[in-house]
Amino acid sequence: MIPRIAEINATQSLYLDFIETLKRSGFEGDLNPDYANRVVLSTDNSIYQVLPQGVIYPKRTEDLVRIAKLAEEERFQSVALSARGGGTGTNGQSLTDGLVVDVSRHMNRILEINPDERWVRVQGGVVKDQLNAALKPYGLFFAPELSTSNRATIGGMINTDASGQGSVLYGKTRDHVLDLTSVWLGGDIWHSAPLEASELEVAKTQPGKVGEIHRLLDEIHRDQAELIDACFPKLNRCLTGYDLAHIYDESGRFNLNSILCGAEGSLAFIAEARLNVLPIPTYSALVNVKYDSFESSLRDAKSLMEWQPTSIETIDSKVLNLAMGDIVWDTVRDYFPQRDDEPVIQGINLIEYTGEDEAELKGKVERLCQHLDAVSGQAGKSFGHSVVYGSAEINKVWAMRKKAVGLLGNTQGQKRPVPFVEDTAVPPENLADFIMAFRKVLDDHGLQYGMFGHVDAGVLHVRPALDMKDAEQEKLVRTITDEVVRLTRQYKGLLWGEHGKGVRSEYAPEFFGELYPQLQRIKAAFDPRNQMNPGKIATPAIEGVELLKIDGVPTRGRHDRQISAVVREQYDSAMNCNGNGACFNYDPNDAMCPSWKGTRERVHSPKGRASLIREWLRLLAEQGSDPVAEAGHIRSRSWLSGLPTKVKNTLGRRRGEYDFSHEVHEAMMGCLACKSCVGQCPIKVNVPDFRARFLELYYGRYLRPVKDYLVGSLEYMMPVVARFPAPYNLLMNNPFSRAVMKHVVGLVDSPQICRFSLKQGLKARAIDWATPEVIAALSPSQKARSVILVQDAFTSYFETQLVLDLADLLTRLGFNLLVAPFKPNGKPLHVHGFMQKFEQAAKDNVAMLRALEASGVPLIGLDPSMTLTYRQEYREFVSGELPKVQLLQEWLSGELEQLNLADKAQGGTYRLLAHCTEKTSAAPSLRQWQSIFTAMGQELEILSTGCCGMSGTFGHERENLRRSEDIYRLSWGEIVNNKLINGNLMATGYSCRSQVKRMDRQQLPHPVQVLLAILSQRARQ
Ligand SMILES: Cc1cc2nc3c(=O)[nH]c(=O)nc-3n(C[C@H](O)[C@H](O)[C@H](O)COP(=O)(O)OP(=O)(O)OC[C@H]3O[C@@H](n4cnc5c(N)ncnc54)[C@H](O)[C@@H]3O)c2cc1C
Ligand code: SF4
Ligand code: SF4
Repeated sequence: MIPRIAEINATQSLYLDFIETLKRSGFEGDLNPDYANRVVLSTDNSIYQVLPQGVIYPKRTEDLVRIAKLAEEERFQSVALSARGGGTGTNGQSLTDGLVVDVSRHMNRILEINPDERWVRVQGGVVKDQLNAALKPYGLFFAPELSTSNRATIGGMINTDASGQGSVLYGKTRDHVLDLTSVWLGGDIWHSAPLEASELEVAKTQPGKVGEIHRLLDEIHRDQAELIDACFPKLNRCLTGYDLAHIYDESGRFNLNSILCGAEGSLAFIAEARLNVLPIPTYSALVNVKYDSFESSLRDAKSLMEWQPTSIETIDSKVLNLAMGDIVWDTVRDYFPQRDDEPVIQGINLIEYTGEDEAELKGKVERLCQHLDAVSGQAGKSFGHSVVYGSAEINKVWAMRKKAVGLLGNTQGQKRPVPFVEDTAVPPENLADFIMAFRKVLDDHGLQYGMFGHVDAGVLHVRPALDMKDAEQEKLVRTITDEVVRLTRQYKGLLWGEHGKGVRSEYAPEFFGELYPQLQRIKAAFDPRNQMNPGKIATPAIEGVELLKIDGVPTRGRHDRQISAVVREQYDSAMNCNGNGACFNYDPNDAMCPSWKGTRERVHSPKGRASLIREWLRLLAEQGSDPVAEAGHIRSRSWLSGLPTKVKNTLGRRRGEYDFSHEVHEAMMGCLACKSCVGQCPIKVNVPDFRARFLELYYGRYLRPVKDYLVGSLEYMMPVVARFPAPYNLLMNNPFSRAVMKHVVGLVDSPQICRFSLKQGLKARAIDWATPEVIAALSPSQKARSVILVQDAFTSYFETQLVLDLADLLTRLGFNLLVAPFKPNGKPLHVHGFMQKFEQAAKDNVAMLRALEASGVPLIGLDPSMTLTYRQEYREFVSGELPKVQLLQEWLSGELEQLNLADKAQGGTYRLLAHCTEKTSAAPSLRQWQSIFTAMGQELEILSTGCCGMSGTFGHERENLRRSEDIYRLSWGEIVNNKLINGNLMATGYSCRSQVKRMDRQQLPHPVQVLLAILSQRARQ
């Protein structure tokens, strides 16, 4: 039995006092000193892990004022505060051992859009893609780009002065900041915008900090002009944060925002921003150019700038290969054809053109292509290219590129690509030479790495692979960084080219030299006691106060190495999370993490859950407990043996005895087990896997709720209760039993069993069971046309008609359907962590399926989630090759010649709402549905959707009902109730169809039923 984890790193009393006082001051947001929140926000995407004392989530600007005022009171002057947005920093920018002030949970509203004057006013926690989605109907967009655009916030972008692809044309975030509303330590709110000379004079006479800061900056500008000019490099990605070189802008106006942008929260909280927005270019084209060496692509990019594109990005073969292995490749494969007679692609230049005049744009593209054709195959030149027109298609390529950045973290083995020198910038003309020197440094240390870059801006992205759990390898962070800093100096560039300084601020004094004391004066004017994100960029000149050091901050590796290698290996699906935050995707029509979207609580995200498990494993290790051995004990011992202790522990829990496992449990119970993380996380973090393992151990110590037993045994009970559908339905659906199920058992809206049995329906159609005898009796030609349906409990018993419709469809198409005898698949057992029983179910099924497979007749399943269990969850528990059970569409798309290639004129347009597991773990199968519909003369559109909120039995659990509905309304509800499209929607998942029925009283058909209806209609014509 795992021990109780009562000993955690408790919040310091000063911080508890601070939080309590804040509560009493009328603070309206959330105050979370709990360990789960602290653990989840102790990491970003960097190699570091720093445990904060608590997390506070302000609701409005007044809350920020309350925080800033209180922090200046004498008793709280050692309280440290770090603002946080999406937490996607790569160098510990938002990490702190003080309080995290997370503005992303509540302060995420778009306040005003002014399309005529082309600006927008937003709160600091608005996500960049969220903003662009809101601007799209106006034909506008917020131009600064970054790979993390679906989760990074405007506050974070301003504070790191984010930029990326297209920066040569569009500049950086700061170039689009019109004014900022910031909250300063002490509680001042200041609206900063460029000031004319007379306005500056007024500002300088303001009392307090406002006047002092304006006077100081003006003085520094006046007195240090020469030094500033000599120190600040003249790069497209100019040196950001405390940007003394731009205290006055090009029109001669004083601009405080040059100091605030890129300040990494070390000066002020950004509450609101007014931003300049631009018209979306009407026409765009992307030329994808292929090279046989990365160096050639880099060097050629320089000369290709002469063809005046909007941007050029270079990616190497490693990055490209990672994308090829991911579901994202499915969306772009046509744009990167590789002929057999061509060299292997080692580098790619993505060259984008945008413009308002189509003919002009096409002319530019054609001239570039002519040039590429003319030099094709020459030494150092490209050997082929493709052209993509239109922003919708081009965005797919950029989405692939963005995702590939995350995929860089996903290599096998212990050495994982980590950021610490990942965003150097040098003048573009020096880039190719710089990269060669950079590669030599990495090669000399025998390190693996992938590279891509914004070559037009001279920015290189590279993440060397290190095993940070190995103390010796961790030391390389210092060695390599020092060498790269030297190289950036040699090539007149910067270590901090794009992602900001964070922990790497230690190089600031050396870089700024004599100017550094001026930075310290600025910091001291805003934050005299070093409370705002201390240790980043500059410190006030106080004895003993220092900047952070790259090897002076605790790393995740140091944390993880406390867990034994065996345990790490078992839980690698949690251990490998690198915090890149792709699971915080804001888009409601994207499958990635419904529990995060439904709650906006980071604890309820894949990253949150992975972080909690890592800490839980570490704390267990501290107590000498081995979770792998514990799981073995649980599986080998009788359920009764630990019962008295479980009862005692459960009573203790009811009395409020603290156990960190309860916090982990709460986070796990919010997970829908939809498996979107498994398919979509670039690192393939698999929450359902470690959640199941956790639940097994948790319920080895505490009693399980009754509903778990009911849900776990559902598949086993179905064959019995289905013999009595009428009494069962009456029993389950009268008001009394519904109340008992809801309030005593904890389950709601139990579905009704079908009134007729599958057996009867199959018999009426003369469909045989797939028994060895029946298969053996098939003639070779019959066998060639046969297929075996592997039943699942939900479709067979609750939607029997669908199975019969499948039988009718396949019969009409000339196939011979056989139905495998029903066997519980075990998925509900896995979801609830009944691992021993699940293992047994997996083994039983595999034995039957292997025997059926040996006959040579293909096996198919109808429900995506249940069918994919045979290839995913089973893998862990069954040795040897698993039997191949295909999704219906995977098999049928290989039999297209059987489908009447119909008269297209009769075709209709259908829209598919796919199941989350299917679209994230079997993405190509959606195209297969399309090919089937096309073969039948129909059009099929795959709609982008989030999760339906049901996911197996999640939505049937009383505590989840509200959340299930919230999730449904985020995406599915909108689509199902959209009058323009709701006549021809279909859904592949049993759960999804039952959720639509429950929430909107609509019955969506399965594609099988639509295809059958089409055939029936044809037959009648
Ligand atoms: C895979 C990957 C790819 C990336 N690609 C790019 C890229 O292409 N271009 C790029 O520029 N960056 C990139 N980054 C870095 C990162 O995404 C950016 O720095 C981003 O701007 C951070 O935004 P955030 O909301 O996550 O901020 P956080 O990481 O939460 O915070 C960043 C800094 O801003 C401060 N801050 C946040 N909000 C506020 C506020 N309201 N008030 C005051 N201070 C605040 C924090 O204290 C911290 O110092 C990448 C990161 C990853 C993981
Ligand atoms: S769970 Fe995956 S997507 Fe989320 S932060 Fe971890 S690695 Fe990134
Ligand atoms: S399984 Fe679904 S709900 Fe659970 S963490 Fe993964 S994406 Fe989120």
